[in-house]
Amino acid sequence: MFIAVDDTDSKEGMCTTFLVTELIKEFQDYDLLDLPRLVRLNPNVPWKTRGNGAIVITLGKGKKRRGPVGHIGKDVDLFQGIKKHGNEKKVFERAKNILETWAEVHHEETNPGLVVAKERPPESFYQGAVKDVLRLDLIEDHLENGDYIYQGYGKKRGLIGATAALSWRPDDFTYELLTYRKKDMWGRPRIMNEEYVIEFDKKTQKTFDCYDHEEEKQAIAPTSPCPVLYGVRGEDPEELKRSLNIIDSEEPERWILFLTNQGTDDHIQKMNISETKLWVSAKIKGKVTTKPHTIQGGHVIFDLKDKTGEMSAAAYEPTKGFRRTVEKLIPGDKVELLGGIRNEPKTLNIEKMNIIGLENKTVKESNPECPKCGKNMSSMGTDAGYRCKRCRIKAHEDLAVRRSVQRELTEGWYEVPVSARRHLSKPLIRDNICRSTSRLSV
Ligand SMILES: [Zn+2]
Repeated sequence: MFIAVDDTDSKEGMCTTFLVTELIKEFQDYDLLDLPRLVRLNPNVPWKTRGNGAIVITLGKGKKRRGPVGHIGKDVDLFQGIKKHGNEKKVFERAKNILETWAEVHHEETNPGLVVAKERPPESFYQGAVKDVLRLDLIEDHLENGDYIYQGYGKKRGLIGATAALSWRPDDFTYELLTYRKKDMWGRPRIMNEEYVIEFDKKTQKTFDCYDHEEEKQAIAPTSPCPVLYGVRGEDPEELKRSLNIIDSEEPERWILFLTNQGTDDHIQKMNISETKLWVSAKIKGKVTTKPHTIQGGHVIFDLKDKTGEMSAAAYEPTKGFRRTVEKLIPGDKVELLGGIRNEPKTLNIEKMNIIGLENKTVKESNPECPKCGKNMSSMGTDAGYRCKRCRIKAHEDLAVRRSVQRELTEGWYEVPVSARRHLSKPLIRDNICRSTSRLSV
C-alpha cells in the first residue's frame, strides 16, 4: 500500500519530506517495504514552492531484509516481502490526520494532495509531471475512476505531484539522507561546522552537490526556516549514513534515507529548437550565431540555431563562474545545451553545456595587399573595406590578412556550480566527467 503526499510546505516553513518521518512514526504497526521516495518534478513550473518534490512511502507486512534506514526516535527498519493490503480507508484517515496536523493547509500558496493506493498509476503520469505540465482534471479523472482514496486541499495541485510520484518507476536513481532539527531550533540559524562538510565531501566517493568549491560554501543545509538540518546526496546509502558521524552540527533529532530521482536528468528531453516550448527542459544541439554579451543583472546571453530555428540561451547571474566559460564562445562554435525553456524571447536557461566543435578564431594581422601594386591598402573605416590610395582599387573587409589564435576553451562538458544546480540536474561527476568550470576559467 502506498501513501503519496505533495505540496504541504510554504516558503515560510515545513517541508514535505519531514511529513514522511511523521507518517512512519504514525504507521509503526506496519512494515516499511521500500525506501521512502522523494520525487522531484518539473523545475520550471512557476507555482512550485521550493523544490517541487513529492513523497511516497510503501507500507505492508514483510520480512526483514535490511538494517535501519532512518531514525525517528526509534530506528526505522526496511522490510521486503509479500505485500498484504491493510485497510486503505483507515490508513487514509490516519495519514490525513498527520497531513492536517503538519501541512500548511491554510497557506494560500500551499495546495496539498494526499493519495493512498494499492497499485502504482501508469508511468506516463511521472513522465508528464517531470518533463512537462500535467493538468489537474486529467489526474482527477484517473483518481476518480481507479482504486484510490485521495484528497486535495485548496487548489488541489498537490494531487498532481502525489500521483506523479506514485507512478515513478526508477530507471536511474540516487539517494538523499535528510536530517531534521529539534523543534525548538526551527527558524533559528543552523549550527554547522563547514569544515566537516568539506571533509565529508573529500572522504566520500559517490556523493555529489555537498560543497560548492567555486563559491566556497556548503550546499547541504537550506537557508529557509524549514525543519531540515541538512541533506546529503549520493549513490551509496552507506556513505551517506557516514555524514551522521562526520558532519559536526547541532544534534539532528531524526534522519531518513530517501530514494530519489535527483541528479538523473529525468526532466530533460532531446528536442529541435522548433519543438521547444515554455516550461519544458530541453537538450538542444546547435551552432552559436552571436557573440555572448552581458545584460543588466549580470546574465550572459547568446543566440544559437539548428536546422529548425533560432533561439537565445542564457547563463544567468547565479551561475557565477560558469558565465566566464560561456563568454568565451564565438559564432560558429557547435554546442549541446541542456536547460529549462522560458518564453519572450524564447531562451534556454543553461544547466549543462557540451562544446562539440570550436570554430577557428582569427584576428586581423594586416590590411590586404593591392593586387596591382602590391602595397598595403588603406582602411575606409570600420567594416567598410579597403582601398589602394595609388591604384584606387577597392577590396572587401574580409580580404584582410588574418591569423589563427589559440582558443581559451576546450571541447567537452561544462556545468553550472553546485549552488546554481537544479535538484534534477545530473552532475557531471555521475558520468565520471569531473570538471570544474572555475578551474578552467582561470
Ligand atoms: Zn595599388
